[in-house]
Amino acid sequence: MRFELKGIAISHGVSLGKVALLDRTKAIVERTKVDPSTVQSEKERFLGAVQKSKEHLHSIIDRFDPMEKGEHLQILNFNIMMLEDDLFCEEVIRTIESEKVNAEWAITYVLSLKTEEFRFVEDIYMKERLADIYHLGETILRNLRGLKDDIADLEDDSVLVAHDISPVDVVSFSKHRAIGLATDVGAATSHSAIIARSLGIPTVMGLEDISLKVSPGDSIFVDGYNGVVIVNFTEKEVTEFIERRKNYDSLGKKLKRYAKLPGKTQDEVAIKVNANIEIADEIDLALSYGAEGIGMYRTEFLFTRSEYFPTEREQFEDYKNVISVFKSPNITIRTLDIGGDKFPPGMEPPKELNPALGLRGIRFSLMDANIFRTQIRAILKASCFGKMRILIPMVSSLFEVIDTKKIIQEVSGEIDCSPSWEIGVMIETPSAAILTSEIAEEVDFLSIGTNDLIQYTLAVDRVNEHVSYLFSHFHPAVLRLLKNITEVATRKGVPVSVCGEMAGQLSCVPLLVGMGVDELSMNTHSIPMVKKLLNSITKAESEEILGNALKLKTTADTKKYVINAIIDKWGKALPLECVQEILTDQAT
Ligand code: PEP
Ligand code: MG
Repeated sequence: MRFELKGIAISHGVSLGKVALLDRTKAIVERTKVDPSTVQSEKERFLGAVQKSKEHLHSIIDRFDPMEKGEHLQILNFNIMMLEDDLFCEEVIRTIESEKVNAEWAITYVLSLKTEEFRFVEDIYMKERLADIYHLGETILRNLRGLKDDIADLEDDSVLVAHDISPVDVVSFSKHRAIGLATDVGAATSHSAIIARSLGIPTVMGLEDISLKVSPGDSIFVDGYNGVVIVNFTEKEVTEFIERRKNYDSLGKKLKRYAKLPGKTQDEVAIKVNANIEIADEIDLALSYGAEGIGMYRTEFLFTRSEYFPTEREQFEDYKNVISVFKSPNITIRTLDIGGDKFPPGMEPPKELNPALGLRGIRFSLMDANIFRTQIRAILKASCFGKMRILIPMVSSLFEVIDTKKIIQEVSGEIDCSPSWEIGVMIETPSAAILTSEIAEEVDFLSIGTNDLIQYTLAVDRVNEHVSYLFSHFHPAVLRLLKNITEVATRKGVPVSVCGEMAGQLSCVPLLVGMGVDELSMNTHSIPMVKKLLNSITKAESEEILGNALKLKTTADTKKYVINAIIDKWGKALPLECVQEILTDQAT
């Protein structure tokens, strides 16, 4: 049966192939007492498995070009180094000898001691080493049990699906010419993710339970750009996917040229083109796609990726990394927007009837002062390395803005260095839109979250496919509301950004330019084309299109008019790929 899952886009590109299910489920390791006379043979079994694991790792390295360098080889060498580390082997051997136990249990026991040691380590790098040690332990256990390496048998068009995957498996996997990766858990800063990117394997993680839903041999499409995986698609879709793969390949080259363009219209009106990111690792990509700043860092993914909330130090390192690498005055960190459908494992509150209307975003943060203050402290500490724009999600009342400002002010007094920040509010609820004037008086900038603003304005659940036909950026009520927000903000002299999906939709860009928005923030891959479009249009003509569009009464008429007007005015000046993209909006 066909189904589609949305996860986190880890490594871009698309792949079309067959599911190879990697079963790394941990078998239960039992503690078995061994006879003193067999202690020696247990030790030998263990050392034999270590040796086999080393040979396995060397054989993977040998498949690479000797001149090749990169993170993936460093990880392999790190694993070999650990196998050669006498301390680990000695500890396991000592356990076999003193406890008179089987080798499997001794390994598991030593690893559990290591986990305990690492539990309170704050350093993210060291924490990730723990994952490496674990994966290594699994490799030794596999060799100890004489299990075959299932990755070695992959077909050429295999897309690997797994609950989790070790860095070594990713490297090994790529060398077997497998073409895509999809996993249940989404540790975006894990080495597995870093390596998938370094090796250019289209990857989606955080798919929750894909490994339970697929069977080996199922046809699978991995869209590493949008974080989407489609399984058992139709014949018709195959043609479409092959076409998309071809297009992606050639488009990539062209887009790089547009990425360098400045964010401004042909009549010299500056409009910043920023990136939305979900994980700090996306920064390099955002830079290479021409992002002029980070318009919204959705920090909730930092909180939902593991079983514990990130410490202040972990958050500080992460935010500081963003500001240090990006070096822009436009780095916008959105505070936690958990709630609704986003909760870290184990933190789920009792089910709410209407989660989208429930304890979400700033409501959750103001309810849990500890978590919120920790995040604010981490952001402010990072802001000592460069100005941070703090963005507050899901505001629906003025008191939420005032209370948040008070908390930021208080926390800033606890910081040793000199923090430098601006505060902004997401306009994404109808009440915030109506209160734009009052909110604008309290803040340095506004950012319109069209995804939620449309959901709440049109009463259309944004994740419910049954009503998605009603969700439209061209709905007259939406356009009029957006016009009001931008008009009021401009009158108040407060800059406005749009950071919902609308900002990256080419056919909507002239409408937003006509409204006078100062910034557009979007998924990284939309940036080059939006820049190209901006450079081809004028603000004056965009205002004219907007004026006419606002007179229309239905979504269908508005969309048709806007798309035709864009093509009439600028179709000849725009490259074919932009025109095609604008025309495809007609069908949505
Ligand atoms: C929005 O609602 O438009 C937005 C940008 O926030 P998110 O998509 O994260 O809810
Ligand atoms: Mg939102």
